Amino acid sequence: MSAIPKTCKAAVLPEYGAPLEIREVAIPALEDRAILVKVEMAGICGSDLHIWHGKMGIKAPTPYIMGHEVIGRIVALGHGRVKDAADQPLREGDRIMWAHADCYECYDCEILRKPMMCSHRVGYGMAPPEKLMGGFAEYEYVIPRTKVVKLPDELTEEEAIGVACAFRSVVAGFEKLGGIDIASNVVVQGAGPVGLYSALLAREMGAGRVVVIGAPAGRLELAKRWGADDVIDIDAARDPAERREIVRSLTGGRGPDLVVECSGYPPAFAEGVDMLAKGGRYLVLGQTSPSEVTFNPASILQRNLQIIGSGGAIISHFYKGLEFIRSRRGKYPFADIVSKKYALEDVNDALRDMQAGTEIKPAIDNRNRPSPL
Ligand SMILES: [Zn+2]
Ligand SMILES: [Zn+2]
Repeated sequence: MSAIPKTCKAAVLPEYGAPLEIREVAIPALEDRAILVKVEMAGICGSDLHIWHGKMGIKAPTPYIMGHEVIGRIVALGHGRVKDAADQPLREGDRIMWAHADCYECYDCEILRKPMMCSHRVGYGMAPPEKLMGGFAEYEYVIPRTKVVKLPDELTEEEAIGVACAFRSVVAGFEKLGGIDIASNVVVQGAGPVGLYSALLAREMGAGRVVVIGAPAGRLELAKRWGADDVIDIDAARDPAERREIVRSLTGGRGPDLVVECSGYPPAFAEGVDMLAKGGRYLVLGQTSPSEVTFNPASILQRNLQIIGSGGAIISHFYKGLEFIRSRRGKYPFADIVSKKYALEDVNDALRDMQAGTEIKPAIDNRNRPSPL
């Protein structure tokens, strides 16, 4: 076992809305089946902005270490932890990702078989500093019941990091959808990481036309390199009626068969349902806001629409996301999702850049950081 320091640095959210503070925190003693990792890379998520300002549905008591999309390198494996969820042996030095820790013993996990809804879920990125369960840190502690997957050796951190939150959510959403019909037309609302992965997955699952609606130009440009046929810049086409007409003209006058909502912008819901073709499906992946919108539900019946929501994911979605990227390396520039890398000490800049929309996915990069020992 490699030497383990007694403490490490972590970026702690002291109270909602305040800048994160770099603090020296204790590294917990290793329990059976737990894993201590050195954080290699931690992505900044769109939801980190809501979390930072206390605007998420789940509001954990502060202080805590934020960061829930992480690649960690195993420093120490607790007794009994010998393989990952895909039966691959685990060793010190392996890189892993992990899901939030569900109990696999409750009604939600075992009868409903929806562990992402587990009432006893222990989440990463929202636990007290002494638990060391957040990614904006030098080390992270993976608790015993957490499901983990090993990263394929050939993937770089930049290629893989999006799987840790955005892509695994998209994989879970498309799985719930049951896939898409060959040659069906797909519109994606939102050009953040969730929207970009949705466009790419629709393309690879056999979509006809894939249209991404969003901004700014840099994200739309990546959408095209990731398989979108057309992009609609909301900074240019500001009126929903104008966007609907553009979508109509791109989809043979019928509208899209599937709209994937990845914008997190509540009015996008009514706009997306409104543009659907008869018999179309609407997949909601992005909405987390408590805001309300006006909507006439008669259109669901009159046009025989389906509305499907999908939030969260389990370890199988991480595994599938990683395998998807591994098998398509070279076909798409997966690493371009990480638009800028930051030192742990610059985490507040990373959050502000995400907030300003100037970056697609900022990431904390610890790979060249000297060991605290
Ligand atoms: Zn996230
Ligand atoms: Zn459970």
